[in-house]
Amino acid sequence: MGQVNRFFRNTVSGLAHWCPGCEEIHILPPSWEFDGNLECPTFKPSFLHSMHKREFVNHKWTGEWTRDAEGKTIPAICHYNLIAGQLHFHADCTHALKSTVVPLPILPEGLTDV
Ligand SMILES: [Zn+2]
Repeated sequence: MGQVNRFFRNTVSGLAHWCPGCEEIHILPPSWEFDGNLECPTFKPSFLHSMHKREFVNHKWTGEWTRDAEGKTIPAICHYNLIAGQLHFHADCTHALKSTVVPLPILPEGLTDV
């Protein structure tokens, strides 16, 4: 489905945005409260995405999951509020941007409609 603006794409599951903490797309389900402001969006309540840690080289996913000594994948959490266009990452995130506030990034190359 198509690009909505520089921050969002429409998907069958909701609006999709780029997460600079996970370096991947997260989808915001339509059941969340949204103020309708696509340029400076606020959603309630917080979003909690559970996934598995992934391997990156030069900010690109290698297609492999990070594994522990026993070869098991490692759970990862991304938890944030999106308030007035700012991602407020909670302390329980497992990525480097936990407990920080960063602007919602524009969609990276490859995820935009040309
Ligand atoms: Zn994330």
